[in-house]
Amino acid sequence: MILPNITKCRICGCEASHPVYIAQETIMGSFERFGYFKCLECGCLQIDPIPTDLARHYSANYQSKILEFGTLAKKSLFKKYLAWFLLFMGNKKESSLEILRKLFPGFLWQFKELGIHQHSKILDYGCGKAQFLFRLYSWGFENLYGLDPYWQGPEIETKGMVIKKGDYSQLRDQFDLIVLNHVIEHLEKPLDVLKILRDHLKENGVILVNTPLVDSYGWRKFGNAWAMWDPPRHLHIFSVKSMALAAKKCGLKVEKVKYDSGKNLWTTSQLFSMNPESQSGLAISQKELTKRQKPMNKFLRMIEAIGDSDMASFYLRIN
Ligand SMILES: [Zn+2]
Repeated sequence: MILPNITKCRICGCEASHPVYIAQETIMGSFERFGYFKCLECGCLQIDPIPTDLARHYSANYQSKILEFGTLAKKSLFKKYLAWFLLFMGNKKESSLEILRKLFPGFLWQFKELGIHQHSKILDYGCGKAQFLFRLYSWGFENLYGLDPYWQGPEIETKGMVIKKGDYSQLRDQFDLIVLNHVIEHLEKPLDVLKILRDHLKENGVILVNTPLVDSYGWRKFGNAWAMWDPPRHLHIFSVKSMALAAKKCGLKVEKVKYDSGKNLWTTSQLFSMNPESQSGLAISQKELTKRQKPMNKFLRMIEAIGDSDMASFYLRIN
């Protein structure tokens, strides 16, 4: 008789014989295989065991393999006043703002919704190469903090922007907005980090978590070729239910879930699924990816509308 393998969910604590999956590393091209299980209770997909040599699976060019970065932005007075205009404009009806929608980047609309303005104290936790902070800086935001354990540049401490190498143990301040942009899925102990970040949130502050979503159409369709799986670097891929549970355990609540089908990653998944070991998804340019994605946009908007997309933004507030 084969005894079922009992594992304990690292998010909700459920101990059971959770369904097991094998996923193959593709983005860096090692093609090693890793075991995952999907919690029967909360739905979180998690690597098991967590590799002890995770650093080996990151290289200096890991991020540039999956994202294309712009050059560091400079402050622009024009953008500063444009952003100010948007953020302070009254709460007009959506319809009257529709013509303006394309004039501003998506994050500004999100900030407007959250009541974040250019003086708000913003932390980008796990800021990577700080592209987002530099972008905010160029739009006139002037209270910016970045922290990343793998920050490779010199520490920055200038008027309006501080960027340091490190983790939550260095946090001293309270923030209006904490951004975890594709970070939580990389954390070994996401609950511990969320708890600490909650303690550094102002009473009316918000934590914005952008992360892949398991239980999405992309996961069901592409399986191992789903570009968002990214084994072994993605340790926990949340479901909406598991994120709500994680938030609750950390004294937070999910105020809103905004579904997002992602830019270009759908195409990457398609290319992986056609030829998983060719790395063809990475060999084509950003321009080509965007061109291939275009005909699918209507379909992707539909799966966003029904809440079945590959990624989501979770708005977490103190409970
Ligand atoms: Zn669970």
